[in-house]
Amino acid sequence: MRTGPKRALLIGHPLGHSLSPAFQNAAFRAAGFDAEYGLADVLPENLASVVAALHADEMLGANVTVPYKQAVVPLLDDLSDDAHTLGAVNTIVNRSGRLHGLNTDVPGFAADVREHDVHVEGETVVMLGAGGAARGVAAALVGMGVARLVIANRTLERAAAIAEQYPHVAEAVSAESATMPALLVDAAMIVNATSVGLRGDDLPIATDTLAHLSPQAVVYDLIYRPTALLRAAEARGLRAIDGLGMLVQQGALAWEQWTGQAAPLDVMWEAARAARYF
Ligand code: NAP
Repeated sequence: MRTGPKRALLIGHPLGHSLSPAFQNAAFRAAGFDAEYGLADVLPENLASVVAALHADEMLGANVTVPYKQAVVPLLDDLSDDAHTLGAVNTIVNRSGRLHGLNTDVPGFAADVREHDVHVEGETVVMLGAGGAARGVAAALVGMGVARLVIANRTLERAAAIAEQYPHVAEAVSAESATMPALLVDAAMIVNATSVGLRGDDLPIATDTLAHLSPQAVVYDLIYRPTALLRAAEARGLRAIDGLGMLVQQGALAWEQWTGQAAPLDVMWEAARAARYF
């Protein structure tokens, strides 16, 4: 009996423009896998029924994005260790009718940092932001062996909530703290995990403050376009890395979970780059 195409979804709200269908579908085509990745812009009152529908045979699973990474947790049958620790899921896999939740943002970020040959082990890293993405980035950086993780956020309490999970490594400061210049002097990398710069040319940190980074420091922005921060870093001769690699890596890890095959990373990269400005 011939079976129909499989399906995977991106669940979020509002979804706006997403690059994920372009590179996930390119990977399905390249691998000859009969499946389609589509968008599911879901209102909060419909989240439970959309997740329940993932139990169907034809569903491979889903990616989950803002604002549902935490809200889906109680709707799933089991969780990976990372997802359990973070309380956040970005990938759901339909394993023979059981919904397994995992978090590929954590290894996706780590894979992209390694891919760019950035060494953070034993180093100081300053992370701006303390939202959902920052939680995953903090877990990845601690897992990669940073010696010191400074979490700077507008709302100090949110930074402190992440820092207290890693008491021997992490500390929280206010984004407005007068100590920021001194903290940057020692940093091997600064990561923007705020949403500042997503639209427009706002900077998550003053350019004067950025001037305190060492010339070897790397500036990584989770936003996957050339932000004002990345342009300011490049203007100072610093290495600047945008978040497209993290997006592709977390997507590739999800794709591997759905298909059981090695992801065609080159194909996914090419499709993501091509889709970025459309
Ligand atoms: P989120 O949970 O809403 O957190 C937003 C963060 O930005 C918080 O730390 C917030 O500070 C800060 N922030 C927002 N507006 C600000 C402002 N005007 N001034 C100072 N700080 C401000 O969002 P998220 O899910 O963590 O996402 C953060 C960013 O990462 C987004 O740009 C998203 O596109 C990107 N992202 C990229 C990837 C990737 O694969 N490349 C994956 C996930 C996310 P408060 O705590 O003070 O509100």
